[in-house]
Amino acid sequence: MIESAAVAWERLKNLAGFKGERDAILTATLSTSRLDDWRQYAPTFLKSEFNTFVKTRGLSKEQRHGLEQDLDYVLDVIKYEVTPQTQGLAVFVDGQAGLYERIELPFRLLNRLVIEPAPYIRPVVHALSLVEPFVVARVSRDESSLYLVDEWGVPQAEDELTGPWLRSSDRETGELSIKQYYAAARQDTLVELHYKEVGTALAKMLESSGARRVVLCAQHDIATAFKRVLPSAIAAKVAAEITFDAAETPAQMLERARQAALAARQQEIDALAVRIKEGLGAGGRGVAGFDGVLSALGRHQVQTLLVDRNYRPPGWRCRQCTWAGLAELERCPVCAGELVAVGDAVGELVRLALLQNGQVEVGENVPLLAELGGVGAVLRYS
Ligand SMILES: [Zn+2]
Repeated sequence: MIESAAVAWERLKNLAGFKGERDAILTATLSTSRLDDWRQYAPTFLKSEFNTFVKTRGLSKEQRHGLEQDLDYVLDVIKYEVTPQTQGLAVFVDGQAGLYERIELPFRLLNRLVIEPAPYIRPVVHALSLVEPFVVARVSRDESSLYLVDEWGVPQAEDELTGPWLRSSDRETGELSIKQYYAAARQDTLVELHYKEVGTALAKMLESSGARRVVLCAQHDIATAFKRVLPSAIAAKVAAEITFDAAETPAQMLERARQAALAARQQEIDALAVRIKEGLGAGGRGVAGFDGVLSALGRHQVQTLLVDRNYRPPGWRCRQCTWAGLAELERCPVCAGELVAVGDAVGELVRLALLQNGQVEVGENVPLLAELGGVGAVLRYS
C-alpha cells in the first residue's frame, strides 16, 4: 500500500540506523509499473542477481541459506502484496534480525538487488526528494483556491475560498459617482480581508502538509497585493509565480505550476551548490568531495547534503564503524576493522546524513556540483 512521503521518510530514517548481526542486508528495488511487465520479469531478475552475488562471495552454506530465505520473502511480496497503484517498490530484509520492511511508491525505481552491510536507501531518498509536495495558490480579488500537490504529483486537497463579493445597486439608483466611490472603497477592504483569509488558510495548509514551496497563480497586481498581506515567513515560501488565465482548467494550471515548482527547485539546488563553494576553506560552512563530506559526517556536522543523482562510485566500507572510502585499503583507517566492497560508496554518505537528521538534496545537471566532486554539504557550524 502506498503511504505518505512523511511515513516513507520515517521508515528511511529507521532503516538508516538499522544494525543487523551479519553484514548482509538484502535490498531490492523494482519498478512495478504495469508498463514494465514486471511480474514476469522481476523474479527472474532477482534470482539471477542473487546467484551472481552468491558466486562472487565465498558464503558458507548457512549464510547462503539465510539469504535465500530473505530472497524468498521478497519474491512472496512481489507475488501477492503489491497494489496496482504501486509503481516502485523497495524491500529491505534481514530475516535473522527480524527486518522485513518495504516502501511502496507511486513512481518507478530502477531494478536493483543489493546485499550489503546496511540497507541501501539511496534510491528511495532520491525519489522522495525529487518529488516534493508544494502548494498552489490561485488568487483573484474575490475567489481563490488552494491546491496541495503532494509528493505523488497529483492534487490531493483543494480549498475553495470564495470571498465576500460586494454587489452594488449603482446602476439602479443612478447615483453612480458617489456610490461607485464608496463601493470601491468598501470593496478594497473586502478584497484585503479575502487575501488575509486566503493567507491564513495557506499557512495552515503549509503547516499540515509539510510543503516548503508555494506557487502563486495570479494577475501581477493581485500577486503583489496578496504577498503584501502575507506574514513574511509565508511570503518567503512563494517560490514561483505564474500568470492567471481564466480560460484554463485547474489541471492545465496545475501542470504549469508543477513546471514552475520544478524550475524553482532547480534554482535552489544551484544556489545551494554556490553556497557550498563559497563556504569552502577554513572557517567556512561548506565542504566538498567524498572525503571532505565523510569527515564532516564523522563530526556530525552536516546540515544539508547535496549529491549528484548520477554520482555512484563503487567503494569500501568498514564492517565495524561508519568509515567508507573510494580506494581499497588493507584495514579501516579509523578502527582497523575489516573492509567490505560496496556498489555505491556515496550511498553510505546519504545514509549517514539521514541518520544524523541532515537534509538530503539531490541535484541533476548542476555543473558546479560536478566541479565540487559530485557531493558537498553545508555544515551546521563552521
Ligand atoms: Zn572502522
